[in-house]
Formats: sequence, C-alpha cells, structure tokens
Amino acid sequence: MNLFRNFKSVTKTCYGRGSFGKLGEILEPQRSANDGFMVFVVDDYFEHKDDFVKRIPEMEGDEIHFISALKEPTTELIDNLRDDILKRRGLPAGIVGIGGGSMMDIAKAASLMFTNEGSSVQYQGLNLIKKPGIYHCGVPTISGTGAEVSMTAVLTGPVKKLGLKCDWTVFDQIVLDPDLIASVPTDQWFYTGMDTYIHSVEAITGTKKNTFAEAYSEKSLEMCREVFMRMDRKDVKSDEFLMVASYMGGLSLTYSEVGVCHALSYGLGKVLEIHHCIANCIAFDKLEDVYGDYVQEFKGMVAHNKVHIPQGLAKDWSEETISAMAEVAYNLPHMWDHAFGPDWQKVLDRERIKGWYRRM
Ligand code: NAD
Ligand code: ZN
Repeated sequence: MNLFRNFKSVTKTCYGRGSFGKLGEILEPQRSANDGFMVFVVDDYFEHKDDFVKRIPEMEGDEIHFISALKEPTTELIDNLRDDILKRRGLPAGIVGIGGGSMMDIAKAASLMFTNEGSSVQYQGLNLIKKPGIYHCGVPTISGTGAEVSMTAVLTGPVKKLGLKCDWTVFDQIVLDPDLIASVPTDQWFYTGMDTYIHSVEAITGTKKNTFAEAYSEKSLEMCREVFMRMDRKDVKSDEFLMVASYMGGLSLTYSEVGVCHALSYGLGKVLEIHHCIANCIAFDKLEDVYGDYVQEFKGMVAHNKVHIPQGLAKDWSEETISAMAEVAYNLPHMWDHAFGPDWQKVLDRERIKGWYRRM
C-alpha cells in the first residue's frame, strides 16, 4: 500500500564505545542558550555509582536530577519538574536524559513543556504541541524501546497513557555508547531488548508495512537473533548489536505501526501499571494465533536466556479488570487498522480482546 510519511530524524547521532566521554564536548556549543545551564535527568540506579556520576559533564550552575524509573513517567512528574526549574532558575539551555525509555521520555517531554504553557495533559496526542522545545539530548543506558529515535514521549496522565508526539519531540542529539548497557540485569535486559524485536515484527506484519520499514526491521531482527539466540552476553559485540537493533527497530516503527501486542500491552500498562516491556513479553507469549513463528522464536529466546515470563496472571483478574484492559486496547484503532486492515471491526470485537487477556 502507499503510505506517505514525512518524519523528522534525530539531528545528530554519536555512536561508539566510550562515546559518553564526548558528551561534554557535544554540549559545549549549546550552553549559552536561554539562562545558560544544563539539566541532566539521570536514572537513580546511577545515583551512588560514583565512577559514573563523575563522568556526567556537569558544570557550575547545572542541575542533576536523579529520578526513579520504578513508575513510568507521568504528566504530573513532567509538570512539577518544569514548574520547579522555571521558578527557581529560569529556562535551561538544554536537557539531557540519561537512562532507559523512562529518562529519555522525561527529557523529551520536559524539553517541550519548558516552552509550552499549561499542563502536559493537554498535549497528549499527535501534533498538539504549539512551540519547539529546548535543546534535548538522549543517552540510553538500556536498549530496546527505540525511545532514542522515536517522535513520541510516552506519558501516563489522569485519563490517557499517550505520548506527546510531534516533530519537535525528536532528540537534537543522541549518544549511543554500548558500554553503558553492560550493567543491566538479565531479566530487564531481555524484556527491554524484546521491545525492539516486537517493534520489528509488528512493523512488518500489518497493512502498513513497506520496504522502508522492512529494511530496518530485517536488520534489527537479525541482530536480535544474534544477541538473544547465538551470542553470549559477554561477547564484545552483544551490547553493540543490541544498541543498534533498538535504534533500527525504532525506525522500522516510525515508517509503519505497532499492532496487537502493543495494543494489549497498553491495556496492561494503563489498568495494572505493568511496565511497557514486560507487558509486551506477557502479551506476545500468548499471540501465536497472530504472530505464528515469531512467537515460537520468542519462546526459544526466552528458554535460551533462562528468563521468566510471568504466567497464569489472568486467574487473579476480575471480569471488571479484563473489561477495563480490553476497553483501553480497543480504543487504539490505528494499531488494529495496521494489524487487520481498515475493516478491522469485522474481525475484532471486545470479546476477542478479552480472550487474549484470559490466556495470560
Ligand atoms: P526504564 O527506563 O523503565 O528502566 C528499566 C529498569 O532498568 C530500571 O529499573 C532502571 O533503573 C534500570 N536500568 C537502566 N539502565 C540501567 C543500567 N545501565 N544498569 C542497570 N540498570 C539499569 O527502561 P526501558 O525499558 O528502556 O523503558 C521503558 C519506558 O519507555 C516506559 O516508560 C515506556 O512507556 C517507554 N517507552 C517509550 C517509547 C518511545 O518511543 N518513547 C517506546 C517504548 C517504550
Ligand atoms: Zn514498544
């Protein structure tokens, strides 16, 4: 099918082992903007890792905010961070997110909210942001979500779990240093890594698939197979492959769309606060009727890496919970349209969605 997309890409990408050491030099030309200080939002996993903290290129007047990724980023967190900094210090020259999808989304969202008035709740959706944000830079320390390349910053709000999505959301700069992801615990490494596997599968198994998306997806899948089926995690190439696979999986999505797994995952996230990447794994594990051999391959990777995908969850869910999740998922028509075509309502109703949840 013809699909015309005209997306903005990340302006600058610095890749390579040790590239984190270049961050100071990279930020230097940006420092004189606005009120002349940088804000670093850093995953609090690193708070007491002194060797790491010392490498953050903090200069006089800069601020480091250590933030927990335990809860996925909320609109409230973004509004409070913005209000606090604007009130005390004024407008930063830029903001740098160091961490996983959570910290990168916080940096992307805060960048926009520094210049757009009111609460971030009113901007959850596509192209609702009115002005460009401040300079923003992303440094992933865990790979898979593709948040480093995507045009969205996913936020949980009082009503919706939805991104601030527009061209200005995209990072001005990313620094991809494979050394930074070495310390991720195995289960989390696998769950987040599978996000890019699932992005790549969903991007090419729906009505919006196209050659552009397929090219990125195929390379990402090939690298995932190396990382999760053939290599040992200690293999020097493993972290490099995963970091690039995440980037490519993110781009495959940019030119296509996610499908059934992500729709179900959003229900798990919104209603039960199950994190995005593990929620995807819980859902994908039960979607053999939709994703066939890919689910078999996924199960092979689970077994190979001896990770645990939670099972038997549905027995503790009330009908009310299942209905609430089905409602969230049903209300993502762009995902169903991609998965089943424009007549998706002929093959999908809330009952079918509930059936998938009952298998989990
Ligand atoms: P995360 O930021 O949620 O972090 C997951 C865990 O890994 C945390 O406990 C964190 O402390 C830990 N961690 C991170 N780096 C580490 C390191 N180097 N060593 C040890 N521990 C480390 O991770 P994620 O899975 O990358 O991100 C999930 C978030 O991303 C969700 O909020 C989801 O909504 C969002 N997301 C965004 C997009 C997008 O396009 N913007 C896409 C998918 C998911
Ligand atoms: Zn995802």
